[in-house]
Amino acid sequence: MKKSAYSLLKVLLLLLAPPLFCAAAPAGCAAGGRTAAPAEAAVPETDAAETAPAVPETAAAETAPAAGDAAPAEAVPAPETAAPAPAGASMRALVLNAGPRPGEPFAVALALPPEPGQEAAAPPQAILLDSGGRRSARASFFSTGTDGAGTAIMAALLAVPSTMRGGKAAVRIEGLPPPGLEDIPVTIGDREFISETIDLDDLNTALRTEPDPQKTSEAEQLQMILRQTGTQIYTEGPFIPPVTSTRRTSFYGDRRIYRYTDGSTGNSIHAGVDYGVPTGTRVSACAPGRVVLARPRIVTGNSVVLEHLPGVYSLYYHLDSIAVREGDLVMAGTILGESGATGLATGPHLHWEIRVAGENTDPDALTARPLLDRNEIFVKLFE
Ligand SMILES: [Zn+2]
Repeated sequence: MKKSAYSLLKVLLLLLAPPLFCAAAPAGCAAGGRTAAPAEAAVPETDAAETAPAVPETAAAETAPAAGDAAPAEAVPAPETAAPAPAGASMRALVLNAGPRPGEPFAVALALPPEPGQEAAAPPQAILLDSGGRRSARASFFSTGTDGAGTAIMAALLAVPSTMRGGKAAVRIEGLPPPGLEDIPVTIGDREFISETIDLDDLNTALRTEPDPQKTSEAEQLQMILRQTGTQIYTEGPFIPPVTSTRRTSFYGDRRIYRYTDGSTGNSIHAGVDYGVPTGTRVSACAPGRVVLARPRIVTGNSVVLEHLPGVYSLYYHLDSIAVREGDLVMAGTILGESGATGLATGPHLHWEIRVAGENTDPDALTARPLLDRNEIFVKLFE
């Protein structure tokens, strides 16, 4: 189709696309099998800190706000986008930002024409298959709007697990009406991670190794939150770092060996980045969103979790104090609290983590570019 045709058929996207697909994500997200929240500890600063911190991108998405120009208190206005001629609309899908590396997010776009007489029961699912066909990640599609003919424009946001190997992979879409769609090939880039050994004292050894029903219950509660795929789009990204300091004491995906006081060891993969900032440093929201958790936890100390997009969350751990309440709406830069050393921490630091469809994700991949670009989705689905 000619690009000029877009300008002939302008449609207003239906923001917060109504209940066409609003079911919560089913269980079985990519984080399945994890039974405890990832633990972390600040480590003495190392000379490994040459990874340049991401520079916050200030330019917001170039999309024009929808008519009304209301303050985006709850969600980002949908862009007014030119749409294609609806004639002959067919089901189709594509993977955006192809070639993600382990720890990086990517979006899958889907155009789903209306099914006369059919009520959609549950949203389709995008599944990342590794070269052996194993399911490595899974996310529910959510609606980003419709075109003039009622075709649902949907997106699913996934992240490549940090443990996945580079090479050939595929995205399968399940839950589509027959005949469905063929698997979409994708290539996962190669990536290496840092290894580090952390000595824990008696207190931190106990925090990590001693069974505690409260700890288990807190881990289950958090997993339940992080597995939810809502319908609200509070932001399209990019995110901004939660502190101005660029001093990092640990990195995303670090392979850790914890050495306990009895000489034994335990393995862990660091799920976020640690900023070595003094207690009392202001910690701000990395993007607009809603506070879905703000409370003390045993392992992660005073903790805040924000929801930003369907299935996309940011987490802030070891805070000295919390300044928001569950249910609050926040803007990028809203103060969430002050950093500290609560929970399992060998010193004051901020642990910042991002989850996409349950999978921990490299925060630097979200500060570099938007996570969801609805204009791009429209253009690429219908070009
Ligand atoms: Zn950490």
